[in-house]
Amino acid sequence: MGCIFCKIANHEIPKEFTYEDDEVMAFPDINPIAKVHILVMPKKHIEDFLMIEDKELMDKLRIVADKIIRDQKLEDKGYRVVINGGGAQIIDHLHLHIIGPLGMSVKM
Ligand code: AMP
Ligand code: ZN
Repeated sequence: MGCIFCKIANHEIPKEFTYEDDEVMAFPDINPIAKVHILVMPKKHIEDFLMIEDKELMDKLRIVADKIIRDQKLEDKGYRVVINGGGAQIIDHLHLHIIGPLGMSVKM
């Protein structure tokens, strides 16, 4: 399979991780749209948000995202957690974007 995030998960493509454990990894987006732009994802290939069945994995992603938001000091600076799906995504391997700082009164 040609999934780039699976290759990163398997260490076939070298990547400096912001966070890594057996199930979850996080690393900076290669094309950041803000000072902090970090991708958090399961190592397991899940294609789309609508295909998440594992509640525990979802909670792990939330816990890692929470840690990164705090480590990056974004908790009071405006941040966004984004999951693109249904064809809006470029890479069909589920990932959360953590983006910030955006300021305190950012509109959609
Ligand atoms: P999405 O549109 O939600 O699928 O976003 C995919 C994101 O992955 C984009 O923001 C890309 O800049 C980012 N990306 C693609 N390849 C890499 C890579 N090798 N390392 C880090 N980020 C990547
Ligand atoms: Zn994958």
